[in-house]
Amino acid sequence: MNTDTTQSAVSEDLRSSLTPAREPVPVFYGLLPMGIGTGDCEGLVSYLCRLALAHCVSVDDLVNQGLARYSTNDFKIWRHFSTWMKDRAVDVFAKQRTLALRDALVAATGIQAAGRLSLASLDGVIDLAGMSSPRLRHCPLCYQAAEFAQLHRPLLWDLKAVSCCPVHAVRLVNSECGGETLQRRPRWHRVHMPGVCTECGAIAYACRAVSHVGASLAEQWVARQSATLIAAASGGEKFDAPLAPERIRELATIVGDGFPFRAAAICGFNKARLYDWIHGVRLIKYAPLLALCAASGVDVVDVLRRPSQCSERANFRYEPHARRTRITSLDDLREKIKSALAVLQDPSVAAVAAYIGCDRSTISKRLPEEAAMLTARWRSARSAKTAARRVEAQASIESTAQSLKKAGKSVTLRNVWLESGICVSRGSRFEEPFRRVQAAQSDEPGHRDALV
Ligand SMILES: [Zn+2]
Ligand SMILES: [Zn+2]
Repeated sequence: MNTDTTQSAVSEDLRSSLTPAREPVPVFYGLLPMGIGTGDCEGLVSYLCRLALAHCVSVDDLVNQGLARYSTNDFKIWRHFSTWMKDRAVDVFAKQRTLALRDALVAATGIQAAGRLSLASLDGVIDLAGMSSPRLRHCPLCYQAAEFAQLHRPLLWDLKAVSCCPVHAVRLVNSECGGETLQRRPRWHRVHMPGVCTECGAIAYACRAVSHVGASLAEQWVARQSATLIAAASGGEKFDAPLAPERIRELATIVGDGFPFRAAAICGFNKARLYDWIHGVRLIKYAPLLALCAASGVDVVDVLRRPSQCSERANFRYEPHARRTRITSLDDLREKIKSALAVLQDPSVAAVAAYIGCDRSTISKRLPEEAAMLTARWRSARSAKTAARRVEAQASIESTAQSLKKAGKSVTLRNVWLESGICVSRGSRFEEPFRRVQAAQSDEPGHRDALV
């Protein structure tokens, strides 16, 4: 028997299977991404979940045991996929994560189209930061109509600017379980299948009763524009980087009828920011670009693609964040303070300002007398309250001392605490009455005898 040679052959085999090859060949199923080249194109995380499902392993295992071999990235230091809340950002574009996951998936499956499942091709063309939706959402009608084998999560639903479905024109709803589960299932035990409720496993979130809310024309326009953009990006179209400032100037000039900076007020953004975009100081973000396109009637894809052509105009404005209401007349302000006083009891100036929704300094600067009156009232109310609490503290210490005396115990910090639950700390309202009671106790003849 020639055991030596067999053993060495076996160990050779083992070694070659254990040491990872330099260029690993694709060993994952060549799962085809859904909706490539259309507005319904699925997101990267949706593809990852479906791939794990096809391999009958958890998403975690697929990433850490399998995918990790195709990447120099340490996936383990990413938050666990099953507890991960950032998948929307990865779907849209998060520089390190999207690119690492994308390249590993392409290498592992050999499917080149899997590399086009995010907006990575727009990186550097526009500013993609903050473009993903903070919440997981879906179109209830899309999921209702879909066949089980076709369930996936379109990338479109992960864009913050998009609030409705371009096909059904209803608002997207949050992908949350609607079932009455008393005990929440641990995240580790949840299903990770696109279109299936992670908590109760209901297909197409059937656990959630939703009323379909129709979307406005502007919302539908945004959804259609975004779908076209996703179709172009997933179709493999390359955009020139970065978006030329001249094109933004062109758009702004159309919007402002020859005066580009008038576009700021019309579209609802800051004029200084518009200056930055026009002069190439910074890249424009997606939402303001949408607003410019909406006002000028140019398609977003056309702006990114080639010199502008006009199409339909829409009534979509960029909304920065809620501003405080501006109070114009003093009488108005006085009226509002009066209404606040009717509701609030002895409020401070800050409380009144918060109630009205203006700045504290607006009241104190414009109506100094009223502000002084408010402060005086507030102070006296507060001191009245403090006095009442002092009296209350004294009464409770005295009654505690009496019951201690009846029980034949001396008044000490510990006994007071055990008896009444009052902790007499230094500087508290209980301290002074406590000292007084203690002094009275040490003056008593019985107590002095006991000490002697
Ligand atoms: Zn839909
Ligand atoms: Zn559910």
